[in-house]
Amino acid sequence: MAFISQIYIIDSDHCTFHFSLFTSVKRLDTRVYCEAHMNKHPVRHRVERTKNKHSRAVFRDDTIIIRLAKGLSKDEETEHVNDLLERMLKQVEDEQEKILINPFGKLLDKGESATITLANGKKYCFCLRPGKKTFIRRTTRGWNVQIGPSMRRKGLHRLIWKAVSKEEQPRIEQMVMRLNDETFGVHISDVKLQFASSQWGSCSPSGTIMLNSALLFVRPEVIKYVILHELAHRKRADHSPQYWQWVEWAMPNYEKARTGLHDYRLPTI
Ligand SMILES: [Zn+2]
Repeated sequence: MAFISQIYIIDSDHCTFHFSLFTSVKRLDTRVYCEAHMNKHPVRHRVERTKNKHSRAVFRDDTIIIRLAKGLSKDEETEHVNDLLERMLKQVEDEQEKILINPFGKLLDKGESATITLANGKKYCFCLRPGKKTFIRRTTRGWNVQIGPSMRRKGLHRLIWKAVSKEEQPRIEQMVMRLNDETFGVHISDVKLQFASSQWGSCSPSGTIMLNSALLFVRPEVIKYVILHELAHRKRADHSPQYWQWVEWAMPNYEKARTGLHDYRLPTI
């Protein structure tokens, strides 16, 4: 069982959000519903009928998918759709205000070369070119990436995140060890730096700390907070008040950094 520090994507199949309707819903004011549609970023939606007990909504591929429970009357269906859609639109709007950590987006769109800058100012240059097969090679300034014909955007995105993660791993590991020495002094069996679109970090019961490579692009106090958050799980595995006391002991101003973390959002690959 892993302890997830910040659940950004809630359900297991990696949707950005989901809501379920467990109780009967209030009829919505039609006016509110219409306004929700007139936001800055119109969002597509579609409705699916399922055999599930509860109605729920997920956000995937820029579309809100409403999955209706079985056995609803026409009126109930309308109520469930309206309610879930309104709640989901609010969430999507809030998310769109956040800073998207997507340093390779442009590189992947244009497919030539780009320099990316980490939060600590370090720069890496990526050079992309087509070729017979895919490989990635470290250069003095960054990486040359040859892209084979079967390579898709998703795979390429993963490859690039992996290269940067591998390069930055020792520095982040040192940061974890130093912060641990300065605070809890707990046993850590491993530190992993890898990209995930679902969580900022985790701590396994055996002491493996996983940190999201996206943290390379956030403010220093934010990455410090995520590290201390995970280290504190070596003291307590839950998110109880006692757990938060440990976090506060290690980082008295953690709440500011925790709020800061919520200013960011992860890209989907
Ligand atoms: Zn946690």
